[in-house]
Amino acid sequence: MKPPICEVCSKRMGENDECKLLYFKKGPNDLKWDKKASKLGFTGHPPYAAWFCPKHLEKAQNLTHLTLPEAIRILKKDFG
Ligand SMILES: [Zn+2]
Repeated sequence: MKPPICEVCSKRMGENDECKLLYFKKGPNDLKWDKKASKLGFTGHPPYAAWFCPKHLEKAQNLTHLTLPEAIRILKKDFG
């Protein structure tokens, strides 16, 4: 797992922060990653999962029907 760093603002979060790991829609590369991960039996940080700080969490939660790059593009534009 990646350390909890907000995908939008790069804020590093500690144990007491209300940060959360969200899972987004999987694109073709993400499905490939899943296949490889289950075959090799490793549990890494999936490319379709990302951490968010409390400030960006609520908005990000409404975008999990998108792939991660799409969601990040919208979030960065909104919070730009
Ligand atoms: Zn943030």
